[in-house]
Amino acid sequence: MKNLLNFVKPGVLSGNKLKKIFFLIKKYNISLIAINCVDTNTINSILESARINKTIIVIQFSYSGSCFFINSNFNKFSTLKCSIIGSISAAKYIHEASLFYRVPVILHTDHCTKDNLKWIDGLLEYNENYYYNYGKSLFTSHMIDLSNCSLKENLDISCYYLNKFSKFNISLEIELGCTGGEEDGIDNSKISINRLYTNPKDILYTYNKLIKISNNFLIAASFGNTHGVYKPGNVVLCPKILYNAQKLIKNSNFINEKNPLNFVFHGGSGTDFKIIKESIKYGVVKINLDTDIQWNYWLGILNYYKNNKYYLQSQLGNPNGIYDPNKKFYDSRVWINKGQINVIKYISNILNILNCKDLLNY
Ligand SMILES: [Zn+2]
Repeated sequence: MKNLLNFVKPGVLSGNKLKKIFFLIKKYNISLIAINCVDTNTINSILESARINKTIIVIQFSYSGSCFFINSNFNKFSTLKCSIIGSISAAKYIHEASLFYRVPVILHTDHCTKDNLKWIDGLLEYNENYYYNYGKSLFTSHMIDLSNCSLKENLDISCYYLNKFSKFNISLEIELGCTGGEEDGIDNSKISINRLYTNPKDILYTYNKLIKISNNFLIAASFGNTHGVYKPGNVVLCPKILYNAQKLIKNSNFINEKNPLNFVFHGGSGTDFKIIKESIKYGVVKINLDTDIQWNYWLGILNYYKNNKYYLQSQLGNPNGIYDPNKKFYDSRVWINKGQINVIKYISNILNILNCKDLLNY
């Protein structure tokens, strides 16, 4: 939908701006894509993809991805400290870079489990001063993933954070049911299959609890979602769960809007686009892609290696002569850029399929 989001300015968005954005994209069956980043090379690829496609993008960091951002040798340091400082450093970089690229960014932290809540506490503590000085929060939103707890405990803790976030215009994402597979140290590969499908009644119950505090939240409800890419048939997705939940919420609360709730689609990598498009019709506003981006980044580098193999075996010596220098081939800028170019190509293709380009006129 051309120029649909022209009212949105470049830079990191505040959580309270999301309501209008999500309302409009739901109306036109569009979903934003969310990409997990671990360094400035991946961030720059994502910003460039958003810039050339004139769209809003979600950039997100996991607990271990944040840690990697500041120090890949994290065994030597406290992981918690690295994750907090890594998230803050990455966020500050994105605040500057998004203005340079002229791209509006939803800046988000991904799955925070119960064990890692101190990560979000650390970010909130830092944010108090940041908010006071700049009049906006460092992050647009945070995800609290208590899908391995009881629904009661999940909601008790989620409500506590939604209250806290609301004071700083930060949006909350929570998970109901579990995302299968394994990603960034969260291993749900052996859980019972039933837990991969959320009961719509639990979604209604959650909606009613959270809406009393703020309408600034998203729900990642599981409908068979799995992190990672596996053999065909391994994952059976059932997006009708989302449809049923929206219907239940509308009927119980006498709401006219087609899809009152904002859903998040986790584990989007490797999913048939027909299923993705169906889920968007039921109110998915954000689709998480991690594994497919990792693969496409690597594929760009792999192809570069294959095409230039004989120039990449030693500092001197290639088919042109035994003392011919290879510096121009192994310079990290050259091969990192091949990964970046492939990621940009891949994201542009997805944005095209999902009708998520040309939303801005700048
Ligand atoms: Zn996820």
